[in-house]
Amino acid sequence: MTTATAKKSYDLFINGEFVKPASGEYHDVVDPSTNEPIASVGAAGIHDADLAVAAARAALSGKWATLTPARRARIINKVAALIGERIGELAELETRNSGKTISSAKSEIGQVVEDFEFYAGAVTKIMGNTIPAPPNFFNYSLKEPVGVCAQIIPWNYPLLMAAWKVAPALAAGCAVILKPASPTPLTALMLGQICTEAGCPPGVVNVLPGPGAVIGAHLAGHPGVDKIAFTGETTTGRTIMELAASTIKRVTLELGGKSPNVVFADADLEAAAAGACHAIFYNAGQSCDARSRILVEASAADEFVKLFVGKARALKVGDPMDAQTHVGAIISKKQMEKIEGYIGIGQQEGAVVACGGSRLDGALARGNFLAPTVLDNVNNSMRVAQEEIFGPVAVITTFQDEKQALAMANDTIYGLAASVWTKDGSRAQRVAAGLRAGGVGINTPFSIFPGVPFGGYKQSGFGRELAMQTLDLYTETKGVVMYTGVKAINPFGV
Ligand code: NAD
Repeated sequence: MTTATAKKSYDLFINGEFVKPASGEYHDVVDPSTNEPIASVGAAGIHDADLAVAAARAALSGKWATLTPARRARIINKVAALIGERIGELAELETRNSGKTISSAKSEIGQVVEDFEFYAGAVTKIMGNTIPAPPNFFNYSLKEPVGVCAQIIPWNYPLLMAAWKVAPALAAGCAVILKPASPTPLTALMLGQICTEAGCPPGVVNVLPGPGAVIGAHLAGHPGVDKIAFTGETTTGRTIMELAASTIKRVTLELGGKSPNVVFADADLEAAAAGACHAIFYNAGQSCDARSRILVEASAADEFVKLFVGKARALKVGDPMDAQTHVGAIISKKQMEKIEGYIGIGQQEGAVVACGGSRLDGALARGNFLAPTVLDNVNNSMRVAQEEIFGPVAVITTFQDEKQALAMANDTIYGLAASVWTKDGSRAQRVAAGLRAGGVGINTPFSIFPGVPFGGYKQSGFGRELAMQTLDLYTETKGVVMYTGVKAINPFGV
């Protein structure tokens, strides 16, 4: 189990330096594998949020605005390089703070480096157009930074979610106020410092840990904030949209999911079971794009379930710092109880627990560990098939044919991601086209790579991250019309 380290104190990061919160209030954050406090973190309040907005506004019109795109690209590349140099340290901090396994943390921080590199490469490709115009006119468009962006992120991928937000915003020339989730602020605070070390002028990246309902809500309605980029629960996203309406802020929302994993009988069932296992149990199921609903063709169901349950049982759950561990801790006791509640609801609804379903005992009992759980015999209308459980729980439902598979896969309020497993290439493409989801993996549990758009259909949100078009969401487009004729324009003839 993770050994306790000296409890460190972290301040807020505003205007290029660590500052104490105006209230003097600090909250403990804990290691989910032991529930022991590992750090004490400043809790930002309204006054601190206002200071961060003022710093970001000043930075926008200061040195940041005068840097050439090439210089901005070099700074973002430097951010990537500094993170790359500190992968070990950042991964350990991420693991201690979030309960995710050290192997996951290292791989995610490797992706963080690639995300910053991707957007560093994109900076010099942000350009407007010249637009066909009638004689005597020269028309063109300009791309300009949208301005000050408040970026509110969840606890499940603390540094990765920060990178998905901060990297494109910096590429576009914006200034940001990053609001990490209260349980997991540590690597986000380090990111603020790294961005400054890399050359971001003070105020370009501010990091404000603190209660979402207070400072998140304040930033969402703040007249000094131009855009709000939010990742989190669908219900919180709805509140943010309402708050942002007061000042007509630009809004992008990356929300919850209940993503299907559709397995046809002609698939390589061994590969499908291994992929399905990773797609739900990675990060202890606390992934927005977790393929939490497994839809399997009835004729292959017995064989698939046997393979899948065998793999779920083989997963090593436990000490997140052990490089061999597959499944780490759940973020909090409260979240673990919520997941257990859903396992109970599933059973009441008629689901059968094919494996897991309980906490781990012995030395692991002081942390938040749940065995990978498979609920079989699930009907797509049950609550466990419709509501986001956000834990290591897969539900299995059978279908008869392609038409029914698609109907079931789409029968949810969410539309974040999906996977389809089949050896029939035409069917794979038909199903990928028919799925109402922002990302589809064909014969793979993965659908996330820098450059590939990631985001939701339906109540999984709107806007795309990780892609070139993300830059459109961090820029305003200005149309410019210029008269080039000799004779002065005098349409009224006055
Ligand atoms: P959450 O909605 O509770 O919190 C997310 C962030 O919003 C936190 O920083 C929180 O402090 C802040 N917040 C809470 N109330 C607020 C308010 N009233 N106004 C402004 N900000 C507020 O979500 P969570 O529990 O941290 O994360 C889990 C959720 O995130 C899941 O639903 C998951 O699917 C979703 N998620 C989505 C994606 C995606 O890309 N679509 C990625 C990761 C997580």
